[in-house]
Amino acid sequence: MKAPFQLYIDGRFESGAASFESINPASGQGWAQMPEARSDEVNRAVEAAHRALHDPAWAELTASQRGKLLYKLADLLEQAAPELAAIETVDTGKIIRETRSQIAYVAEYYRYYAGVADKIEGQFIPVDKPDMNVWMTREPVGVVAAIVPWNSQLFLSAVKLGPALAAGCTVVLKASEEAPGPLLAFARVLDQVGFPAGVVNVITGFGPECGAVLSSHPKVAHIAFTGGPETAQRIVGNSANNLAKVSLELGGKSPLMVFADADLDSAVNAQLAAVFAASGQSCVAGSRLLLQASIKDRFLERLIEKVKAIRIGDPQDMATEYGPLCTVRQISTIERVVASSLAQGARLLVGGQRLEAVGHFYAPTVLDCSQAPQADSMRIELFGPVLSVDVFHDEQDAIAKANDTDYGLAAGVFTTQLTRAHRLSKALRAGVVWLNTYRAISPLASFGGFGLSGHGREGGLAAVLDYTTTKTVWLRTSDEPMADPFVMR
Ligand code: NAD
Repeated sequence: MKAPFQLYIDGRFESGAASFESINPASGQGWAQMPEARSDEVNRAVEAAHRALHDPAWAELTASQRGKLLYKLADLLEQAAPELAAIETVDTGKIIRETRSQIAYVAEYYRYYAGVADKIEGQFIPVDKPDMNVWMTREPVGVVAAIVPWNSQLFLSAVKLGPALAAGCTVVLKASEEAPGPLLAFARVLDQVGFPAGVVNVITGFGPECGAVLSSHPKVAHIAFTGGPETAQRIVGNSANNLAKVSLELGGKSPLMVFADADLDSAVNAQLAAVFAASGQSCVAGSRLLLQASIKDRFLERLIEKVKAIRIGDPQDMATEYGPLCTVRQISTIERVVASSLAQGARLLVGGQRLEAVGHFYAPTVLDCSQAPQADSMRIELFGPVLSVDVFHDEQDAIAKANDTDYGLAAGVFTTQLTRAHRLSKALRAGVVWLNTYRAISPLASFGGFGLSGHGREGGLAAVLDYTTTKTVWLRTSDEPMADPFVMR
């Protein structure tokens, strides 16, 4: 665990321009020094990726050979999962039972894209000219800058690296300055796979220098970003320099609706997972609970009872169900918004305060906002363990309230009425709609948002096409010479 963390550039490990301390959120103490990439390191990483893109060692591999490398990466990742999970837990505070199972499942994403690599097909175009054969090929788009936040970072990088490498691109992966340990450790796994030097580079550093230089670099062709909307605006601005394609996976304020006919125990469990898994630090957190008015008291009673029973503690302990937040900054935002929401008329049902003398713990919190539906906590993404509750009276009211957000990442519906479930799946403005479930994911299913939640889709077959660009080839099939254009016939 104490092994030094290094940048991985052009197939070599190096120390970086400077270093910074990473904090263990469970203790609030520094636990490791992380290397910082500044302009020089970022430029060298992009140059290495650009050279590797055209180097025959990578460019002339067949698609199936690229797929085999991805299969190998999946196997090595699976072997390294326990160590990577332990590092993610100490660096981010995410509980060990979540990091272990998530990282083991991430291997399936690499396997999926390994299988896709040799199924990226071109097209024959039946043009309106008899002596022409025209076909379209798909080529790698170029150097990809994959920029990720600190949460679920192995997963968020797999949904970028998997399709990018399957398509034949090369990558500079930038880990967040908050808790970069897991991705820097993942670089050691990448190093064992056998990718030619420069195909994948892993760096970390601060947004204003490392992130800005990377996203505006002239040799970057595609920026695959996951993070907050404000950073996304900066990145879109930076992309004016390189005119790179940009895909954005941003935040959310996702609703979970429960109708009176629903299986309430199932919905209570889903709501617990929706907002308290990962201590609420999840882009798809179901942070707005919309209850049909007639079941409000019954539902909240069962929910609060379960919230009070959540086992809070050491994130490295397999018995722990709920750990600290990654950053103190996040706690300050939550404290501020909970206070303003209470002042606006929300009612505190449980939680609402920091816990423990040490570490970044904040209690699982439920606010009844039914008398203050415009309270800040109903609108602002908190990226933390705060659930805001409102009521609805009928289906149209539920839809209007669910869609009353600038975001549109996910939505959950609990009902036993099949026809209603279908109607809601159409009416909800969200990139993912879960009916009688929540948080389900698969490498085969695409994922992404509407509105402020971004654009572009990750996961699924179509995602690989985002990392390609097309080339149209015209072949004249006639043996007759081309006519002289200046001779009148
Ligand atoms: P953030 O936007 O602060 O940082 C994300 C990354 O962007 C980091 O690597 C950071 O260094 C980098 N960055 C910062 N400034 C930059 C700049 N000027 N140029 C280039 N890069 C820059 O996000 P965060 O606070 O670490 O993460 C939380 C956010 O991420 C939440 O909004 C959450 O909902 C979102 N998120 C979305 C998804 C999704 O799939 N939709 C998944 C996870 C998290």
